[in-house]
Amino acid sequence: MYDYADIEQYRYRPTTTTTTTTAAISMCFLLFIPPPAKYGGRHTVTLIPGDGIGPELLNHVREVFRFSCVPVDFEVVHVNSALETDDDMNNAITAIRRNGVALKGNIETKHTLPASVKSRNNVLRTSLDLYANVMHCQSLPGVQTRHKNIDIMIIRENTEGEYSSLEHESVSGVVESLKIITRNNSLRIAEYAFQLARDKGRRRVTAVHKANIMKLGDGLFLQCCKEVASGYPDITFDSMIVDNTTMQLVSKPQQFDVMVMPNLYGNVVSNVCAGLVGGPGLVPGANYGRDYAVFETATRNTGKSIAGRNIANPTALLLASCMMLDHLELNDHATSIRNAVLTTMNETRLHTADIGGQGTTLEVVQSIMRIIQSKGQLTSEF
Ligand code: ATP
Repeated sequence: MYDYADIEQYRYRPTTTTTTTTAAISMCFLLFIPPPAKYGGRHTVTLIPGDGIGPELLNHVREVFRFSCVPVDFEVVHVNSALETDDDMNNAITAIRRNGVALKGNIETKHTLPASVKSRNNVLRTSLDLYANVMHCQSLPGVQTRHKNIDIMIIRENTEGEYSSLEHESVSGVVESLKIITRNNSLRIAEYAFQLARDKGRRRVTAVHKANIMKLGDGLFLQCCKEVASGYPDITFDSMIVDNTTMQLVSKPQQFDVMVMPNLYGNVVSNVCAGLVGGPGLVPGANYGRDYAVFETATRNTGKSIAGRNIANPTALLLASCMMLDHLELNDHATSIRNAVLTTMNETRLHTADIGGQGTTLEVVQSIMRIIQSKGQLTSEF
């Protein structure tokens, strides 16, 4: 067993929320204690609209919350991705430190800006030490896909690996990009994955790596996973090299249960998995750390080309907002909105164009609100 005195602090608190068939996508991981509600049971959450489809979809989330009488107030902080200064980002990070929780759209990273301008999304995750990225990819009965019965939880290391942004051109034409793997971080992400697997009744955790080439870096990550696995005899542990993993995913994705991996592999694998269950408009994602939690879409898209056209799929961000409500222990609200989203998807089958439908974003959102109302839920005016 590893000797890591602080590991207790990384253990998360199992939830008591039950999963139903339609709510099986439920993502109520309470990694750490959420910020307490304020007077009147209300919470304040930082809202970062981001770029592309972020602002319009988050307006829909706010409308659904207002309609459903959710006791959440949003503190909106705009981050202008065109600016090279850090002021906006510092304001956003300060607001999240104050509120503890954020819901965000993706902030565009312009490749044309100098290398010194780092990805705002990445700065946010590292500054707040949001070390665990979590997504749950599950086949939805109402969505046509090549593969059925997919149910994979992906735990992605979120603050180091290839995302260190430590790059330099040692001599002209030669660039070094550092990939950072630390024992502490690898242990806590592995611990998170195994705890989650146990809490969710999962049977197997697969570590994804390239330790045959990156023997020290990925080798350390894999070693940490093995050490943590020895404390979970009830859960099968195995490992798979990342290239084989992507091939296995597109040919037989049902074989995977819980997957844990370093940052960049997590980026690739989560996009493959989102594609397998219907696309980026469907899957929510969460970034957890000891002190803060930030919710967004799993594949972190801006979708600039479809912005402002009332055609983007609101599902992923609405489900991300439900994960946030679960984190705030507003589980009834989370369940009500989540069930309405999934009913619209699987039973009403009102779909946007990305999954083969003809519905607009607004029509999907209105269908969701009608379903919430039809369940006798306390609602305000349409
Ligand atoms: P663009 O910004 O031109 O849309 P991109 O290459 O930056 O393209 P991403 O933002 O990464 O793309 O999105 C990948 C693809 O997924 C794009 O085709 C985008 O339109 C689509 N997409 C992302 N989110 C959604 C959504 N919520 N609903 C429908 N399509 C989406």
